Amino acid sequence: MSELDELYQEVILDHNRNPRNFGRLEDAQESEGFNPLCGDRISVFVKVEDDRVVDVRFEGRGCAISQASASVMTTMTKGKTVEEVQKLFNLFQQVVTDSEGGEEAMEEIGELAALAGVREFPTRVKCATLAWHTLGSILEGQAGTAVSTE
Ligand code: ZN
Repeated sequence: MSELDELYQEVILDHNRNPRNFGRLEDAQESEGFNPLCGDRISVFVKVEDDRVVDVRFEGRGCAISQASASVMTTMTKGKTVEEVQKLFNLFQQVVTDSEGGEEAMEEIGELAALAGVREFPTRVKCATLAWHTLGSILEGQAGTAVSTE
């Protein structure tokens, strides 16, 4: 098994095969994300009410990491407040960039921990965080922007 294969753990394969919350969401805020290094494209659709993510869906094409990350993201952010989502993204970023506090953060990010292996592959970090940056642009009031990792 190559090092890269080890990234494709069961959770990633499962979410890639059966993406959760996949498809457009009508009457929602939307942003588009693009990772030119890998060719990943993600559209994220969000409905926020009273500072809470009441619904979130995504569409896209790209590598298993980018799609699985988007799928896990939708399952973990639905129902959370905007602040909770931003906190979760920060923890996830700490893990995948292997920065200080990353090990502790692992325990708080649930299924996202399956993506922790990308920290060995800097270019893959962009695949794993693309959907999150795209969602983040909407939650920061920048819906409609085209987010690029480059
Ligand atoms: Zn990718």
